[in-house]
Amino acid sequence: MPQLDLHPFICREDNYGVLVHDAATGQTATIDAPAAPAIERELARKGWKLTHILTTHHHTDHVEGNLALKEKWGATIIGPKAEAARIPGIDQRVSGGDSYDFAGREVKVIATPGHTKGHIVLHLPEEKLLFAGDTLFALGCGRVIEGTLAEMWTSLDKLRKLPRDTVFHCGHEYTESNARFALTIEPGNEALVKRAARTKAQRAKSEMTLPGTIGEELDTNVFLRPESKEIRSILSMALAGNADVFAEVRKRKDAFR
Ligand SMILES: [Zn+2]
Repeated sequence: MPQLDLHPFICREDNYGVLVHDAATGQTATIDAPAAPAIERELARKGWKLTHILTTHHHTDHVEGNLALKEKWGATIIGPKAEAARIPGIDQRVSGGDSYDFAGREVKVIATPGHTKGHIVLHLPEEKLLFAGDTLFALGCGRVIEGTLAEMWTSLDKLRKLPRDTVFHCGHEYTESNARFALTIEPGNEALVKRAARTKAQRAKSEMTLPGTIGEELDTNVFLRPESKEIRSILSMALAGNADVFAEVRKRKDAFR
């Protein structure tokens, strides 16, 4: 099957939009709908017609464009059942473990509570693609707003088990500040040091740092690396469980400026 055509772009302040297009069927999805005007502009640029809005969670900067886009295109909105009441125009409600079809591809729904209670991420195993919303960021992870730190760790641990060559997109361009923080937690990680330098150069030119791969996150994302001896040494948590190490890293990031 020919590859899906992916078109990521930055909108609002630091949100990522991404359009997913299948040339054979003409189907086009937006992953979340941060802002209708920006999505309309990108659709026009590509000459694509919107058929689907695939929602990861209920935050305003992920659903604000829903009704305007649905009104214009009649697009089908598929989102998390647990947050259906807060997702404008939702047509199809899905939960972790469900699968649905987009353009003849299987989209697996993975429940990742933490950032919000009902957050889901979308995994297309055949395409080796992950749309991680605000659960996993490049060199970071979402703030734990509605769930517990333990829930967030369980969610991230699920994503650690995906194949290393899985390409992932996420909801925000936070990579540069994530890199600055990460260097305080694991400064001896050479792959991280290199990636941080690359990120800084990219952002200086206003380039996108996404998409990334799960493999690169496993090597450089301190939120996914509680086994690291260096991280444990810096946190003085040599014998702690992974969930506790993650929780401490997340707390430090919340306080980091
Ligand atoms: Zn969010």
